[in-house]
Amino acid sequence: MPLNLYNTLTRRKETFEPIDPKRVGLYVCGPTVYDRAHIGNARAYVVFDLLYRLLREAYGAGHVRYVRNITDIEDKINAAARANGEPIAALTTRTTAAFHEDLVALNALPPDVEPRATEHVPQMIALIKRLIASGHAYVAAGNEAAGHVLFAVASDPHYGQFSRRNRAEMIAGARVEVAPYKRDPADFVLWKPSDADTPGWESPWGRGRPGWHIECSAMSEMHLGETFDIHGGGLDLVFPHHENEIAQSMCAHAGRPFARFWVHNGMLTDSGTKMSKSLGNIRTVRELLDEAPGEAIRLALLTAHYRDPLDWTSDRLRQARQTLDRFYRALLLPRGPGSARSAEAEEALRPVRAALDDDMNTPLALTGLHELAGAVNRAGSDTERAALQSALAIGGRLMGLLERDPLDWLRGSDTADATRIEERITARAAARRERRFAEADQIRAELAAEGVVLEDKPDGTAAWWRKD
Ligand code: AMP
Ligand code: ZN
Repeated sequence: MPLNLYNTLTRRKETFEPIDPKRVGLYVCGPTVYDRAHIGNARAYVVFDLLYRLLREAYGAGHVRYVRNITDIEDKINAAARANGEPIAALTTRTTAAFHEDLVALNALPPDVEPRATEHVPQMIALIKRLIASGHAYVAAGNEAAGHVLFAVASDPHYGQFSRRNRAEMIAGARVEVAPYKRDPADFVLWKPSDADTPGWESPWGRGRPGWHIECSAMSEMHLGETFDIHGGGLDLVFPHHENEIAQSMCAHAGRPFARFWVHNGMLTDSGTKMSKSLGNIRTVRELLDEAPGEAIRLALLTAHYRDPLDWTSDRLRQARQTLDRFYRALLLPRGPGSARSAEAEEALRPVRAALDDDMNTPLALTGLHELAGAVNRAGSDTERAALQSALAIGGRLMGLLERDPLDWLRGSDTADATRIEERITARAAARRERRFAEADQIRAELAAEGVVLEDKPDGTAAWWRKD
């Protein structure tokens, strides 16, 4: 079944067809690396990881190129480094490593290319030069304007169409600096001067640094070409960031199309308010990983449709964990004969695939996985159970879930506790071997009292896991 996606460009759900099925391109705006990612940022990267997985499934892993940049030139970085008394490169390197660590914990695949802004300044300068040459950008005049290059919104008749805003809304929404050297208050910065304490690169306009928007236009062109398949990011980036990316790229490319599909995730909220660093209401991924496994956080992020708001609560996380317990328990049941990818398994998986292909309807896909887990428990034969278990495992994997050993999951991640339980089980096995049955039963009862389930195997060992 083809993948259907809601396209912000047309405000409609459309069937996705790539320009070239052998080279499907996806660009997602990456993090500004000055601080640890919060769970709202994580939502964006988990949603696009799901899209990446679905594209790989549909076109083959080698035929999809996922580009997610690292914004390592940005004024917030300069301010944070100054506040920490830390060199900028040390801050961005440390934050990038932490970001990668968080995404690994959330089982997000690495992108195929992860371009850094600092490594693409010549491409940004080249793009700005083209915009100046074609009359879409200008070097600001006047003393205080020295070293500024601005995009001239009046030169682009399409400006504002993407975000469907009128001029007043654009000026208010962009919160652009009103500066006397701007021809139009909506004009935005492509290049600005750097003082001695701020990172800067030599350019035709003096030593300076790029604005944020031009970074993505240059990096997407470099790694995916002028026109590519899908561009993603959070809904909060539609204006001004994506409006500006479109204006810059299309004007520099003589009006040729930029991204054909635009996909935006809804905001993660805390008691209804957008989670954001500036509001100070954030929970970092790192903090949450102390409370729950990354896989439970990932599932919790997928429990709402990606375009809807998602209110983050501890209850949502607790339920996600219980859901995974249920799924892993179904996978743990003895497997009957049958191959992993049988026709029966594919048939059972159909509703899950259909839900994901319908604009990534993860709530419906999860309902499908719940139904599969229920069907595993009720299966009439070993063969039937095996097919259903395969369907559950494959469906989970499509969503980046259920890839762990079920026993490992059900034992939990407290290794000291696991070692203690293993020791008790060994002691029980010894007691049984030596026919001290009362003692063996006593150990079993103690473990049961703390929620540990034992299942004796024919070879005399026991499998174990924890009940909720
Ligand atoms: P930033 O580092 O702030 O540029 O954000 C990185 C990504 O996270 C962007 O795609 C944002 O749109 C997205 N994002 C930021 N805050 C939230 C939020 N509260 N909910 C969902 N996505 C968010
Ligand atoms: Zn961007």
